[in-house]
Amino acid sequence: MTHDVIVIGSGGAGLTAALALAEQVKVLVLAKGTLTSGSTAWAQGGIAAVLDAGDTFENHVRDTMVAGAGLNQRETVEFVIERAPHAIDRLIQLGVPFNTAKDDLGAEALHLTREGGHSHRRIVHVDDATGWAVQAALLKAAEAHPNITLLAGRTCIDLITGHHEERYSGSGRVWGVYALDEATGKVEAHTARATVLATGGAGRVYQFSTAPRGATGDGIAMAWRAGARVGNMEMMQFHPTCLYNLEVKNFLITEAVRGEGGRLINPRTRKRFMEFYDAGRMELAPRDVVARAIDSEIKKYGLDYVHLDISHMPADFVREHFPTIHEKLLGLGIDMTREPIPVVPAQHYTCGGVMIDLDGRTDLPGLYAAGECTESGLHGANRLASNSLLECFVFGEAAASHILANWDSFAEPPKVRPWDESRVTNSDEEVVIKQNWTEIRRFMWNYVGIVRTTKRLERAQHRIKLLTEEVGDYYGHFRVTTDLIELRNLLQSADLIVKSALRRHESRGLHFTLDYPQTRSVAKDTVLVP
Ligand SMILES: Cc1cc2nc3c(=O)[nH]c(=O)nc-3n(C[C@H](O)[C@H](O)[C@H](O)COP(=O)(O)OP(=O)(O)OC[C@H]3O[C@@H](n4cnc5c(N)ncnc54)[C@H](O)[C@@H]3O)c2cc1C
Repeated sequence: MTHDVIVIGSGGAGLTAALALAEQVKVLVLAKGTLTSGSTAWAQGGIAAVLDAGDTFENHVRDTMVAGAGLNQRETVEFVIERAPHAIDRLIQLGVPFNTAKDDLGAEALHLTREGGHSHRRIVHVDDATGWAVQAALLKAAEAHPNITLLAGRTCIDLITGHHEERYSGSGRVWGVYALDEATGKVEAHTARATVLATGGAGRVYQFSTAPRGATGDGIAMAWRAGARVGNMEMMQFHPTCLYNLEVKNFLITEAVRGEGGRLINPRTRKRFMEFYDAGRMELAPRDVVARAIDSEIKKYGLDYVHLDISHMPADFVREHFPTIHEKLLGLGIDMTREPIPVVPAQHYTCGGVMIDLDGRTDLPGLYAAGECTESGLHGANRLASNSLLECFVFGEAAASHILANWDSFAEPPKVRPWDESRVTNSDEEVVIKQNWTEIRRFMWNYVGIVRTTKRLERAQHRIKLLTEEVGDYYGHFRVTTDLIELRNLLQSADLIVKSALRRHESRGLHFTLDYPQTRSVAKDTVLVP
């Protein structure tokens, strides 16, 4: 099946690119699962943009660079931040109902909140469910557009490159993608003049993650296998407090619980432990400090979790301030007005990814990328809250603009080989996949989490090597399924994270290792070359 442009992913980055491209060309959007299964629909806080008269681009740039611990590319940071007001305007045109409030002169203006690390109020939002409103507006516009075809239930397996041409021309071009139709089990070859990767992050490589189930690093792994460089994969952001529950592994307990008096307690010693880590700020220390403290208690005492306790506050106060969390926890048998909540830190955001330039171009001709699957230079060693949706909109549009501006230089795709259907046997051992999936997530959590050491990283690397052989063998023999494709990508992502972490001989931003606790004077990207 031949198309003008293929966009892989229907989140904020993918649909922004698709809508901009559809002004002039026909676009196919492929998504695994449903069209709303990415992280975009889950975003809560909002989108950062300089919209207040007292704020400046320079302030936002500075805040972003401080959070990123010097690893950001200033050119990229400026590029994104200066385009933020335009991105918000476009979303308003698409019907996103951002909250408003009366300004000093009594006029209705966008309501701006402030989040950790921001020196000003600059977060536009739709209550506490911004992502869902944005996803719904983008999807509605895409569904209505005559030049956009949306195909859900397609798990992309590998990019189609010069090697898949019927007659190999020696070109290093990307011509599209092989995608599994989840309903029929057949693999389709979709070709196009250009392909945009917008597949989100790799958070599910960790046992605890706030990311949706499909965040298995597929795009990063596909681009790597096709020959693109990836950068700064060791920079994984962790949120300090996620509910510890063996069934519900990704329920966030907002930082506001600590803000309103919640205390962190070691369930074994029954002591408030933040006094040993940051006696001045206690539970209100920055995210990374609190996350490291919790991780340290868990490792030191061999715990599964620590307690977050707000039961000393009046029950009405707790119910009033945290209605959603209170209700959700009650459903799981925890009454937070009377007892502590078991919490662990959880992976929250993938800062690194496929390397792109300001036009969203990867190393491979014909392949663009946008959003959480990329390393654009915006986040550096740590993402500033609410900058990530912004990155999706800016780079989704930048990639589309570059493709359209250079349309005549994109050749028609050649004939390519169909997917090799010789592996017709269905595996009757789903347990192998499940077991491996659980094992990766567990050792990544234990050995490649918040506090790292070279020894732990090497242990993880050893296991990755063994599993890669096992999964490779399995992959070579059985018909592909979404679970198997994801397992392969999860393993590939884990490998890239560990390799990157081993390369960085310093602690910076999100990468903290006991073997190299100092920060070097010069900040350098960790770039892996296939
Ligand atoms: C709980 C939570 C809260 C957050 N809150 C905020 C916030 O307030 N502000 C903020 O800026 N950011 C926030 N983030 C981060 C932000 O939501 C994400 O970084 C952003 O939405 C990523 O968008 P994306 O388009 O790159 O990817 P996603 O929205 O994750 O979309 C990925 C798409 O790719 C598809 N896909 C993946 N693999 C394949 C494959 N193999 N084949 C086909 N399709 C595939 C998926 O189906 C999906 O359609 C939050 C994240 C989480 C998890």
